Amino acid sequence: MLEGSCLCGNICFSVTGAPEGVSACHCGQCRKQSGHVWSSAFVPETDLEITGAVTWYEATPQAKRGFCATCGAFLFWKAHDEDTMSFALGALDGPTGLRLEKHIFTADKGDYYEIADGVPQK
Ligand SMILES: [Zn+2]
Repeated sequence: MLEGSCLCGNICFSVTGAPEGVSACHCGQCRKQSGHVWSSAFVPETDLEITGAVTWYEATPQAKRGFCATCGAFLFWKAHDEDTMSFALGALDGPTGLRLEKHIFTADKGDYYEIADGVPQK
């Protein structure tokens, strides 16, 4: 089981089940909200237990983005028409056992870095 939290600790979460879609998102929304690239994986919503008050922001009508209103940590992403929820890899505690599988929305990436880790780019 994976466990994580926001920076201040007001929000904690635990993940049961096997995370899928381990990815780094370079889209403009994730860049704006995280300050750089947002890495996440997803599980069925029922496999993610969250404690604490998540603040949700809808950058688009299709999905909501969960963050901590105290420390600002961007923790969750949830598409309204999917029953899975993504969680931030950077918020996990301890070894994750996960490996990045893909970079996504690389066409929107910033010009101040290169992606050179050999991980597939979508
Ligand atoms: Zn916090």
